[in-house]
Amino acid sequence: MSTSACPIINKNRLSQPCGRKIVNRSILIHSCCAHCAAYTVDYWRKQDYEVTTLWYNPNIHPYTEHQHRLEAMKSLAQEMNLPLVVAEGYDIIAYFRQVVGQEAERCQYCFRLRLSRAAETARQRGFNAFTTTLLISPHQKHDLLREIGYKLAEEIGVDFLYTDLRKRYSDSRRMTKGLALYRQQYCGCVYSEWERYTNLTKSSRGADTPSVNIP
Ligand code: SF4
Repeated sequence: MSTSACPIINKNRLSQPCGRKIVNRSILIHSCCAHCAAYTVDYWRKQDYEVTTLWYNPNIHPYTEHQHRLEAMKSLAQEMNLPLVVAEGYDIIAYFRQVVGQEAERCQYCFRLRLSRAAETARQRGFNAFTTTLLISPHQKHDLLREIGYKLAEEIGVDFLYTDLRKRYSDSRRMTKGLALYRQQYCGCVYSEWERYTNLTKSSRGADTPSVNIP
């Protein structure tokens, strides 16, 4: 494998590859939002992966919020010269069929829904591996993400690449600061929006509802 020397940060654009970079490893990164994607993409590029991102987030409600976050992701992709696959449709019904009645454990169904699409897309399109930007967020259930990622890798037959990027969460947000991208105020689902704006504490909420969760 040969690579050309290339500064990762260009003063005008984020992480724009310069010159031709020849790589033989490819990764599909499921992206939950532009702000978690920025550093994650740079990280995997620095590991010499050819990076493509996947947008599949039917957990983001309502639809207009989903579209705001998708537009931000598209702007980042343009800024980073980053291929972005946008999954067709908005599987909100599939999301609710998974979580209704299991709200306390909803995040595991939500992770599995999104990561299984990433794994299937990676296998169908011939990527060497898949991962997710959710691994950069200190607000997500990190161990659960890792467990589900490895399980799906076995089931679907494509490698899951795990790395703990939580210490880089602020760096990722610093990278997108000057880009005037839409910034979300809650994790995604209506449950998390409700928690965010009522500012409930675990003790006042009771056992059935999980804590506030912003990606
Ligand atoms: S809180 Fe976030 S991760 Fe959990 S179910 Fe809602 S959108 Fe998914």
